[in-house]
Amino acid sequence: MNIVLMGCPGAGKGTQSAKLQQAFPLYHISTGDVLRAEIASGSELGKKLGEIVNQGNLVPDELMISMLEGIVRSTDKGIIFDGFPRTVGQAQALDEMLARLHRSITHVLMIDLPEEEVVNRICSRKQCKKCGAILRVDAEKPVVSCPSCGGELYTRPDDTPQRAKHRLSVYRQSTLPVKDYYQGGGKYTEINGNQTPEKVFEDIAKILQK
Ligand code: ADP
Repeated sequence: MNIVLMGCPGAGKGTQSAKLQQAFPLYHISTGDVLRAEIASGSELGKKLGEIVNQGNLVPDELMISMLEGIVRSTDKGIIFDGFPRTVGQAQALDEMLARLHRSITHVLMIDLPEEEVVNRICSRKQCKKCGAILRVDAEKPVVSCPSCGGELYTRPDDTPQRAKHRLSVYRQSTLPVKDYYQGGGKYTEINGNQTPEKVFEDIAKILQK
């Protein structure tokens, strides 16, 4: 099983990836996390990436693909691709890369969310520095530490209302066409993301168990 998990920023890809990993023996690759780790390392490459990512723009395809290939090669497990491909060029490159490795995408899952809900969600979320959990924060009852591991919570620098809106327009322009690339291939399914995380996962699990 090799899954592409699609959806706009804030659709719940990270949350569903965590649930998928608990339920199935899958390896999770989040290109957002890969990029944030490189940025945190303080390397020269990380500095360049930081400028792009914090503005809410996309990292160039060639660079993204070259960073990903080694990670894909490092595991024999089925993979959840979270946040990748984000352009049609990346989708084509992924198919070519997997073919070279005698693997292929088995499911493309699109988590759908109404636009008005997107910015709302993004601007009220925090992430745990230690375990990576994503939490919805209520302004009335702010959470100070991660309820699962006690780690420090932070707001991603690209999660401000202005940058969230920009990411959404980048998504519409560059990532939505990826839907056409996959639709019609018999692997593509849309899931209603405007439900509780548990219900979204139930819908995903039904598709995977077919
Ligand atoms: P979200 O889905 O909430 O936008 P991600 O963690 O998936 O968050 O991505 C954060 C940022 O990392 C993106 O806005 C973009 O700048 C960069 N990024 C992530 N994945 C890719 C990719 N496949 N290609 C180019 N840039 C990417």
